Amino acid sequence: MIRRIINKVFGRKPRVDGTRAQILPLSAHGIRRDQLDDCALKTCETLAQAGYKGYLVGGAVRDLLLNMTPKDFDVATDATPEEVRRLFRRSRIIGRRFQIVHVMCGRETIEVTTFRANGQKETEEDDEHAAGDKSPAAHKRLTDEHGRLLSDNVFGSMADDAARRDFTINALYYDPAREEVHDYFGGVADCKKRVLRMIGDPDTRYREDPVRMLRAARFAAKLDFHIDPATRKPVAALAPLLANIPRARIFDEALKLLLSGHALRGVHQLRAEGLHHGMLPLLDTILDDPTGERFINAALKSTDERIQSDRPSSPAFLFGTLLWPQVLLRWRALEAAGEKPQPALFAAMDEVLDTQRSQLAIPRRYDGMMKEIWALQPRFEQRGGQRPYRLLEHPRFRAAYDFLLLRAESGEVAAELGEWWTRFQEVGEDERAGMLLADNAPKPRRKRKRKKPGEAAGETQPA
Ligand code: ATP
Ligand code: MG
Repeated sequence: MIRRIINKVFGRKPRVDGTRAQILPLSAHGIRRDQLDDCALKTCETLAQAGYKGYLVGGAVRDLLLNMTPKDFDVATDATPEEVRRLFRRSRIIGRRFQIVHVMCGRETIEVTTFRANGQKETEEDDEHAAGDKSPAAHKRLTDEHGRLLSDNVFGSMADDAARRDFTINALYYDPAREEVHDYFGGVADCKKRVLRMIGDPDTRYREDPVRMLRAARFAAKLDFHIDPATRKPVAALAPLLANIPRARIFDEALKLLLSGHALRGVHQLRAEGLHHGMLPLLDTILDDPTGERFINAALKSTDERIQSDRPSSPAFLFGTLLWPQVLLRWRALEAAGEKPQPALFAAMDEVLDTQRSQLAIPRRYDGMMKEIWALQPRFEQRGGQRPYRLLEHPRFRAAYDFLLLRAESGEVAAELGEWWTRFQEVGEDERAGMLLADNAPKPRRKRKRKKPGEAAGETQPA
């Protein structure tokens, strides 16, 4: 208190070294208790009533501070997972090595995490006694030869918990009972300045967990923040460390970026930082080709619009778009070499998936849907007879049609083709038939009087 008065009088900046939190009142952060969802509020209250700490933490505090709607609410506490579980009837412990508790209310789930320290432990027993231990753990760090943290499942104090988080804006704790924010590293000020700043020494922190580099790109894109120069600097040199990270984790982080509602900015940010190699090595080639770039940009933009207006967006569709420019390239090459369109497309799909498999973080479970969407593309060219009706009935029609519109938007196929299909869905039965007939009727031509059979418009890609 005295320190705060002195700081105020002398205009000194409070310390932001992480050892002590600056406690900010409502007037300084503006987050009101009623902005929390009921479930998160209830969880914090129940913890407090039982004598534990219970703070809203991480992304939700950051998003509320920025007047954004939080995606989910995470709670941090000094209660052990077992203690938390006992407090909430509908709750369960998740994870073995690193346990968190899912507290359910209604259809919602709140993730409750016990304060942790940054992988500083020597023996298993330390786990049992560290919770509530207010001194920062001073054990040997467990890291691999690149500095990667091998363990982060040690309980710690609230200050330890703040210090193990990645960016200053992600290390804010909101106490709903007092409507106060506990800020260990100047995160509130960084939010106001719109700066993404790593806690601690950026080089060390990226080595501990290289995924933080992808997170930096994601948050910068999502929040439209500027990456602090010291936080950005090591990335160029350390990007190759992502190769040591399990594919599934890279994929999860990539998916978060792509589904953040700011994928367009995010993907360009990744490329600018040289971080796309392990995720989508082809990005360079794709973005260097004007049609490919137009297509990818159209796809990312439309994904962002869907997410921002709360419409679902499927990962398979998204990855299908990211790989399409490459499929298209191979497809055309095989056709030019004399293959028929359909077999050429199928061969191109397999080739792209096979050659990318070793470098790509896209799980196989999406192959089926990606292939279906791709394989339906030539069928949009067939606008005579029963075929358009059959295509309309296909279970993947909607996704394939959305995909077609992106191809039309990027100039890969004629805009007229996309418009035709839009109209074909909108009009009544009679008009539909009319569209078909009109489309199949020989077009009046000036020079040639007669048309050979099978040369009807729209039949350029036989099945
Ligand atoms: P989002 O709104 O996208 O969920 P978030 O900040 O909540 O953003 P999460 O991935 O849900 O991000 O993680 C929750 C919190 O856990 C983060 O705010 C951060 O404090 C901490 N955290 C997550 N991943 C890491 C990491 N790799 N290194 C350090 N801290 C991390
Ligand atoms: Mg989150």
